[in-house]
Amino acid sequence: MSKRDFYDILGVTKSASAEEIKKAYRKLAIKYHPDKNPDDKSAEDKFKEAAEAYEVLSNPEKKQRYDQYGHSGVGGAGGGGGYGGGGMNMEDIFSQFGDIFGSGGGSPFDSFFGGQQSRGGRRVSKGSNLRIKVKLTLEEIANGAEKKIKVNKQIACKTCDGSGAKDKGSVSTCKTCGGSGAVRRVTNTILGQMQTTATCPTCQGSGQQITAKCGACHGEGTVRGEETITINIPAGVSEGMQLSMAGKGNAAPNSGVPGDLIILIEELPHDTLKREGNNIVYDLHVSIVDAALGYSAEVPTIDGKAKIKIEAGTQSGKLLRLKGKGIPEVNSYHRGDQIIHVNIWTPKVLNAEERIILEKLKESPNFKPQPGKNDKSFFDKMKEYFE
Ligand SMILES: [Zn+2]
Ligand SMILES: [Zn+2]
Repeated sequence: MSKRDFYDILGVTKSASAEEIKKAYRKLAIKYHPDKNPDDKSAEDKFKEAAEAYEVLSNPEKKQRYDQYGHSGVGGAGGGGGYGGGGMNMEDIFSQFGDIFGSGGGSPFDSFFGGQQSRGGRRVSKGSNLRIKVKLTLEEIANGAEKKIKVNKQIACKTCDGSGAKDKGSVSTCKTCGGSGAVRRVTNTILGQMQTTATCPTCQGSGQQITAKCGACHGEGTVRGEETITINIPAGVSEGMQLSMAGKGNAAPNSGVPGDLIILIEELPHDTLKREGNNIVYDLHVSIVDAALGYSAEVPTIDGKAKIKIEAGTQSGKLLRLKGKGIPEVNSYHRGDQIIHVNIWTPKVLNAEERIILEKLKESPNFKPQPGKNDKSFFDKMKEYFE
């Protein structure tokens, strides 16, 4: 399933200001709020979709990545690699509302939404996100890579299976809420009296109380541990890009939902090849003789060596192109090119014999520079290849 464009979802243009984006989201959040559309699945989907779009577009860093790389730039790569494109859970969405509707008294939406508490019901705790850096060579970036990485993190306690309880007998139903995790509350709002539910203060919404704690994790349900995680990195990623794997972060206390693993991409420099967007640039040095006579040059590429013809009479600064030998675009079949920048090598040292030969050529008319109008300037050439 392909994702809708975040700007389309919020109904704003790419040039919309932060305030316009916020306003557009606020409108949609009110329209599709679950309290206003009980048991309406399509409203709930729209509500989540809008929240996800806002989450990205309201964050300047994420917005920039989204503008540049689309959904894949913000960890929403549909289909590929199993990344958590699944968006946000309700808890994340409601925690965002303090920002949108203002957490202070004045806003009528506070009471309408009742803040975070009104969702009530069984609450599942969520583990924190974990961030790691992955260093990739240019070859790994070009081909995609599978990385097995040992991660130090909170994992579920094996002794109690993450419950935090000493044994089965030491878990009982919460007396305050009767196991529902929620307590009812009636509030007065501008829309009249509303019955809302709030998270049970005794059990924090888990619906359960632990009478004796697990000794191994002191009742937390999690302990420090190590996990080897296999990360599939799609071809074409770039420095600073972030991928996220849902559920691979820190385990949550009391058998909750684990956080996400956020993977920050770092590029390792290559010895001879340079990345320029999705193109690869290579500096080829050619002797005066080879440039004058022409020859077949061997150049390194991202997938091994390639031959390229240097025509007789090639000028210094000429740009040659190996089509499709660059970096693929993320989640696309399009690939950049390799661009070869020809540099004519002038000898720095001459022996007596060489000097005699060159002195003889000195007055030869063919050795005098004769630039014509077909010899493009450096800027023209750069424009041609990089635009
Ligand atoms: Zn335990
Ligand atoms: Zn309770």
